[in-house]
Amino acid sequence: MINNLPVKTLKHKEWTIEGYSRAAVQTYWRIPELNLGFDLGAQPWSFMGTETWFVSHAHLDHIAALPIYVARRRMMKMDPPTIYLPEHTIKPVEAILRQFTRLDRGRLPCRLMPTVPGDEIELSRQHVVTVSATRHSVPSLGFIVWERRHKLKPELAELSGDQIRDLRLAGQEVTVERRIPLIAYLGDSAPQGLDDCPAMYEAAVLILEVTFVAPSHRKEKIHKFGHIHLDDIIERRDRFKNERIIASHFSTRYHDRAIRSIISKAVPDMFDDRLHLWL
Ligand SMILES: [Zn+2]
Ligand SMILES: [Zn+2]
Repeated sequence: MINNLPVKTLKHKEWTIEGYSRAAVQTYWRIPELNLGFDLGAQPWSFMGTETWFVSHAHLDHIAALPIYVARRRMMKMDPPTIYLPEHTIKPVEAILRQFTRLDRGRLPCRLMPTVPGDEIELSRQHVVTVSATRHSVPSLGFIVWERRHKLKPELAELSGDQIRDLRLAGQEVTVERRIPLIAYLGDSAPQGLDDCPAMYEAAVLILEVTFVAPSHRKEKIHKFGHIHLDDIIERRDRFKNERIIASHFSTRYHDRAIRSIISKAVPDMFDDRLHLWL
């Protein structure tokens, strides 16, 4: 396999989280078991087989690889991918793809799906994605992948299998749907984007941006640009119910060593070892 870009990997239960994210450099994530990815700031060759993508916002470090990803899939005779994008980006992205088609003389077949906060996107009977607004310097979205479990309605618990089957055949709904948040992806956002979508705090895995960590980078200024500071995370410690919290999208102002040292001093127990630094 061609290795054209850095990819870090973390296994959590049945999911593999793969990706890379540094502010202003490039951001891309995918979960192969769910056959979906978040953001297209760059596109590792190995990610090409994933055919459903959710783009959080149109900053170049989150979207720049969209044309080349589409082109590679066509070149490799794969089906056109499905890419969910903030609604207002659809027309400009279509225009960009048309211009690349003129220059490159290759078609760029893909399904661009407009997405707004509040949307529910059905991936399969088992999985659904919900969309929330985040707070950034451009319109930006967060996503949660939910597992849907269908359980027998409690009031039918006393019935026999045959009786339940008869009810079902008569067209009655015999199950209720229960949803479990699996993977939450915040994208770029001030902490308000988390607070506005409490399910992010409940997801098994939360992929979080923590752009700034140094005490000298004051929060007030950062919030204006729509980012999170380490202090915001510490203030919200009790709210995080996640099994894993992935901190990523660190500013290029910091060396990896500085990030590790600042965070391990500020959070010595790493939130009971749930906090994972994507470095
Ligand atoms: Zn970013
Ligand atoms: Zn951004």
